Amino acid sequence: MTRYEHCYIGGAFVPVEGAGRHAVIDPAREEQCAEVRLCGTRQVDEALGSARRGFEAWSRSSLDERRDALARLRDALERRADSASQALAREMGCPVWLGGLMQVPMALKGLEFAAAGLDQVIWQERIGNGLVERVPCGVVAAITPWNFPLHQIAAKVAAALAAGCSVVLKPSEVAPGAALVFMQAVHEAGLPAGTVNLIWGGADVGEHLLAHGGVDHISFTGSSAVGRRIMAAAAARLTPLTLELGGKSAAVVLDDADLAAAIPAMARAGLANSGQACVSQSRWIVPRRLRDEAIERFRRAAEDWPLGDPLEAATRLGPVATKTQYQHVCRMINGAWEQGATCVAGGKARPEGTGYYVPPTLFADVGPEMDIARQEVFGPVIALMCYDSEAEAAELANVTCYGLSGAVWSADVQRASSFARRMRTGQVVVNGAAQNLATPFGGWNDSGFGRENGRFGIEGLLNYRSLHGAV
Ligand code: NAD
Repeated sequence: MTRYEHCYIGGAFVPVEGAGRHAVIDPAREEQCAEVRLCGTRQVDEALGSARRGFEAWSRSSLDERRDALARLRDALERRADSASQALAREMGCPVWLGGLMQVPMALKGLEFAAAGLDQVIWQERIGNGLVERVPCGVVAAITPWNFPLHQIAAKVAAALAAGCSVVLKPSEVAPGAALVFMQAVHEAGLPAGTVNLIWGGADVGEHLLAHGGVDHISFTGSSAVGRRIMAAAAARLTPLTLELGGKSAAVVLDDADLAAAIPAMARAGLANSGQACVSQSRWIVPRRLRDEAIERFRRAAEDWPLGDPLEAATRLGPVATKTQYQHVCRMINGAWEQGATCVAGGKARPEGTGYYVPPTLFADVGPEMDIARQEVFGPVIALMCYDSEAEAAELANVTCYGLSGAVWSADVQRASSFARRMRTGQVVVNGAAQNLATPFGGWNDSGFGRENGRFGIEGLLNYRSLHGAV
């Protein structure tokens, strides 16, 4: 069993001081695979003190020093790619295949695009007798979830380092391995003491971190419910914040789309990582006359997503990450039945054996008022809704309280692009294009605000300073 007994403060791994323990459960085997010792409040304060001192030095670093540090960190992380994938598989059930194909590469790209973003920021600008400067905001409290744990940590730390800020990272206690691997890379990269600090803990530790007063910006990724609490904590101290929250993204098929190309890609975007992605395309909006064909094609596409042991190289779909998550997904499935949706594929948890497994599931005849159409499932469960006119498709796409992501498919890229502009979300994928991690990532409405990635993530951590008459 892995024991996480060291946090990272002042440029060194130091023993955790705190009485709390969190048991990490392997979701495929339903047995404890790790234990995390949780930091006490004194150690949280110590991490913030370390970050303050780290900021004083790092905020004066040159852009070349930041670029070099990001490159060293990227390379050190890449050398640990296998350890990261193994930890993700054991602790949150992400197949090693997906860890290697997506989770780790996304983290590496995040570091690369932050380095590239350094050259895109306008650091200084003259306006008449005014000199406008962009300066690092200070100590960033980074609080991250478990579903893409390495990528979310890398995105936040990369932006902070590029901006000249320091970080106290509080990763999810559910998937600590990714955070430890990341900090080992930080250590190997030789970042100056105090620039990046790690504390272990859950909600209590997160709350203490934000209440302390030593935080200049909060960067939070997680659920909308916790996001509200974070914003309330930020309000108490007027701390600026970035919130990357949940989603209920729609994939809209226009009536001229090629279903043979669209449905397998949409299945992948809804099922990968067992649907535990904030951008997961969990609502499909298709022309009514294509309903049956879409169902049939989903059933065929789902054959490419058999359930299996996440540690096996051939596995495409692992269990959902935790028992709590599994129970939530089961509740959402039962609720969809009760509210009158038709289950046309999957629909129940694996009947025998251990593991929090949920098969690829599709509900048809979903109405916009149903919970399955509006609430985040965070499981491999898709709601199929039908429309008769493009106006109705746009209305359905925009019916939820979220606004994180979406997708549209058409034989005519102009038409698809026009439709994309009717979707009230932070990003829209046209005809299955790759998500470009150099563009701003973030949500509208209940999906949060603020942006991550590349220059946009950096700019979110900079303050303006206007100097009048200065040279
Ligand atoms: P969560 O909101 O339960 O927890 C996220 C983090 O917040 C964890 O580190 C947790 O320990 C911490 N936390 C919990 N309560 C806190 C409090 N009161 N004060 C301070 N910190 C607190 O989310 P989760 O279950 O870990 O992750 C899943 C959620 O994250 C989903 O809703 C998903 O959509 C969302 N998510 C959003 C994005 C995005 O970029 N928009 C990306 C990934 C995941």
